[in-house]
Amino acid sequence: MATAIRIEALPARLGDCLLVECERAEGAPWRMLVDGGPSDTWPLLEARLNQLPADSRRIDVAVVTHVDSDHIGGFLPFVESDFARENVRDFWFNGHPHLLDGSRPRSIEQGESLGSVLTGRADGPVLPWNQAFDEHAIVTRDDALVEVTPRGGPRITVLSPNADRLQRLARTWAAVLSRAREKPRDVAEPDRPQPLGDLESLATERSEKDGSPPNGSSIGLLVEHRGASVVLAGDGFGDVLTEGLRAVAADRGLERLPVDAFKLPHHGSRANVFAPLIAVAPAKHYVFSSNGDTFHHPDDVAVARAVVGGPRGATLWFNYRNPRTERWDDDALKDRHGYRVEYPRDDQSGAVLELPSRR
Ligand SMILES: [Zn+2]
Repeated sequence: MATAIRIEALPARLGDCLLVECERAEGAPWRMLVDGGPSDTWPLLEARLNQLPADSRRIDVAVVTHVDSDHIGGFLPFVESDFARENVRDFWFNGHPHLLDGSRPRSIEQGESLGSVLTGRADGPVLPWNQAFDEHAIVTRDDALVEVTPRGGPRITVLSPNADRLQRLARTWAAVLSRAREKPRDVAEPDRPQPLGDLESLATERSEKDGSPPNGSSIGLLVEHRGASVVLAGDGFGDVLTEGLRAVAADRGLERLPVDAFKLPHHGSRANVFAPLIAVAPAKHYVFSSNGDTFHHPDDVAVARAVVGGPRGATLWFNYRNPRTERWDDDALKDRHGYRVEYPRDDQSGAVLELPSRR
C-alpha cells in the first residue's frame, strides 16, 4: 500500500525534531520540519537534510512549536543555514509580534524578522514567516476551526495554542526567549527506572498539570493527507489539546477523532498526557520523543495512560531504545494489554513511521 504520511522522530535527546513527509502522486513529497531539538541535534539534522534528494530539498513548512531550548537549540543554526534560506518556503512560529491583544492578532512589526527574533541578533536573516496565516499568529479560535490547505499538501488544523495561552506567554516573553537560546544544563541525576507495576493503577495516578507558559503556547497540529492522519502536539497542555481535538471531532459530527498517529505532548510527560486526551483521539500509533535526559521522559504514568486508554493493538514508538523505554518490550505486559512496541533500527535513525494511504 502506498505511504501517505511518513514521520521521522530524529534522535534529538530530550527534545523534539520531526521530519514529516506527505507523499504526492507525482514529484517530491510535501515536507514539514517540526522543531530542531537541543543545540547538539544540529549536526544530525544537517546530515539528514543533506541526505534529501539533491533535486527536491524543499521544506514546505518549518515549525518552531514553542521557545524552549530542547526545541529551538538545533533550530537556530538551521535558521542561519544556507539550506534554510534556499529551501524553506514558510516558517511557522509565534513570536513576540504575534502575541495577542485581546482576540485580535497583530501583524508583524516592521523591521522584525524571524531570524532576528529567534537569534537575538539585529541582522538575523529575513525569512518567510507565518505566510499561510497571512503573517498572523497561529492560534485556535472559539468560533471556527483554523485550517490551512497548502497547495499539493495536507489539510492542517491548528489544535493549540489558544488565545489565552499565547497571552500568558507575552508576559514572560523576553526571559523565556533568552533562556531558550542558552544551552540547557543537563542534570546529573541518573535515570534509574523502576520495574513497571500494574498499568491500570499507574494510569490513574494523580499528576500535577504542566504550568510552563512556553509549553502552553506550543503549536499543536492535526495533519491529514490522503486518508492518513497524525497529531503533532509539541509540548502542549493536555486540556488545550483535548479541547482542540474535541472541536475538530464536533465539527465532523463525532464525539472522538480517531487518528493514525499521535506524537504525544511534552515527550510523554505525566503532566501533559491525561486520560481525556487519549480518549478524544484514539490512535493506532503513539510516538514518544525523548532519550530520558534531564527529565526522565517518557513518564511511566503517561505511557500507561496511552496503553490503558488507547485502542487495543496500538503501537508505542520510542525514538530511543534505553533502559527506560525497553521495559515496555515485555511479553507479559504486551499480551495482557494488547499493545506493540517499536524501537529505532540504530542510534542514528530515530523512529520512522509510514502511514498508509486510504485513497
Ligand atoms: Zn520539550
